[in-house]
Amino acid sequence: SSPGTDNRWRHVRRLLERAGPLGGPEFEPDPELFSAIRSDLVQILVVGAGGLGCEMLKDLALSGFVNLHLIDMDTIDLSNLNRQFLFRPKDIGRPKAVVAAEFVERRVSGCRVTPHFGKLEDKPLEFYKQFMCIVCGLDSVQARRRLNQIVCSLVQFDESDQPIPTSVIPLIDGGTQGFQGHCRVVRAHATPCLECTADLYSSTQQGFPLCTLAHTPRLPEHCIEFARIMQWPQEWPFGEEVMKTE
Ligand SMILES: [Zn+2]
Repeated sequence: SSPGTDNRWRHVRRLLERAGPLGGPEFEPDPELFSAIRSDLVQILVVGAGGLGCEMLKDLALSGFVNLHLIDMDTIDLSNLNRQFLFRPKDIGRPKAVVAAEFVERRVSGCRVTPHFGKLEDKPLEFYKQFMCIVCGLDSVQARRRLNQIVCSLVQFDESDQPIPTSVIPLIDGGTQGFQGHCRVVRAHATPCLECTADLYSSTQQGFPLCTLAHTPRLPEHCIEFARIMQWPQEWPFGEEVMKTE
């Protein structure tokens, strides 16, 4: 390849071809890893094309992956545009998956993104088998649980009841709430799955997105939260301590 191409992927190669503190005990640095990423055979599914999904799709494309799939059931709304940066005003009303795929294909040469406009359950189990990894940026706990169930049910076992490694699809689950975020990796039957740790997620979603409170409060609860989170600290900077001592 030309020197220009080498330079483009310099940073990714550095991660893949050297050992490092973030690599983990099973990671073996290898120059071949980069050509694996650039191969059509490494097919990755991104679930969700919202705030997190847009970022992840961009990151994967810029990391050199060339065969991405994207699934999302939503269409673009005006209120998405401040953070879902792959969308423009002219895209309002169109499916997020389709528009995001078009944008990334246009911007990152050599990267192919196949969009799927619809729900997770619209796809047969067979559909999910083709991916080497599933990366998820969803805001719904229910949809996460469904995805978790999908990857767990795809696992096959050998005669001694050990999971067959090639049937285990790693699920990388990301989520945000306000300024907080989390990311975890689930490898079915090797690490706890989402159901094992369901207590970590609140069953009823508590709190509201800060952008909703600031820009489009539309419920009495939003106004109360706005007063509690933003106005109270301004009016009563030491309010809680005063209340305790009184
Ligand atoms: Zn589990």
